[in-house]
Amino acid sequence: MIRLAIQAKGRLNEESTEILTESGLTFEKSKRKLLTRCEDFPLEILYLRDDDIPGAVEMGVADIGIVGLNEVVEKAADVEIIHKLGFGKCRLSLAIPKSETYEGVASFNGKRVATSYPVILKDFFYSKGVSAQIHKIAGSVEVAPSVGMADAIFDIVSTGGTLITNGLKEVEKVFLSEAVLIVNKEIDNEKRTLVNQLISRFEAVERSKGMKYLLMNIPLSMVDDAAILIPGMRSPTILPLAQPGWCSMHVVVNENQLWPKLESLKAIGAEGILVLSLDKMMP
Ligand code: ATP
Ligand code: MG
Repeated sequence: MIRLAIQAKGRLNEESTEILTESGLTFEKSKRKLLTRCEDFPLEILYLRDDDIPGAVEMGVADIGIVGLNEVVEKAADVEIIHKLGFGKCRLSLAIPKSETYEGVASFNGKRVATSYPVILKDFFYSKGVSAQIHKIAGSVEVAPSVGMADAIFDIVSTGGTLITNGLKEVEKVFLSEAVLIVNKEIDNEKRTLVNQLISRFEAVERSKGMKYLLMNIPLSMVDDAAILIPGMRSPTILPLAQPGWCSMHVVVNENQLWPKLESLKAIGAEGILVLSLDKMMP
């Protein structure tokens, strides 16, 4: 049995439960119960505030956790970062009032900077030889400059919309983050096996993202041309059709630019093209 900590509510909650569900795990998603057991995998799910996840995994209260890399680094948690999950992507950036001209990192010398991430910011300033006052505040960081609490902020940015709304501009991108799977460093071999099993399920789900399964009937003479039209295609499966000179071609493709690819395939004689969704891909 392993225990996994995920965010109880917030930006990572939905995608964390989604990857578990897509990995074939069935569990109660009721937010009232803070500890729930999976029905079909030896796994318990513990719902926590994201700030508490790195510490819980470090202490072994949970064996593994899903949390933003920003929280892991900020809490300086002694845990193993075992897998990047590809969601919850954001960055930590320095921003100043948009009316000011930015003259490089040195301009933060002597300034007051408000942030919920003092550890990461302190490291950054240290690496740049900047000496600034760091004010730790828990939330509403973006309003700090307009109410006179700080000269600049250091906060999470994804699209930059919140900064603009608050009259700020991003001037330094300091830290890139995404959700990661963290593991307690002292788990035994039995738990390690379960963790690895879980990771290979996650990978199967991740691999299928953005991929489609394509089937079509095509003249045998056109198979090579079709392969050129679908870049990145790994060796297609070719099955004979009753009609001489024709085959059925099956291939996994990236859904990027799917319509132009379908139109080009049609133009070289493909018929009866089917596009199917993919759930999982195991190597
Ligand atoms: P909690 O109540 O659990 O403490 P919180 O308010 O601290 O939640 P959220 O706003 O839910 O945190 O964000 C959780 C994590 O999601 C962040 O630490 C970051 O890794 C990621 N994240 C935050 N903002 C964004 C965003 N705009 N886009 C993508 N990911 C984000
Ligand atoms: Mg939090």
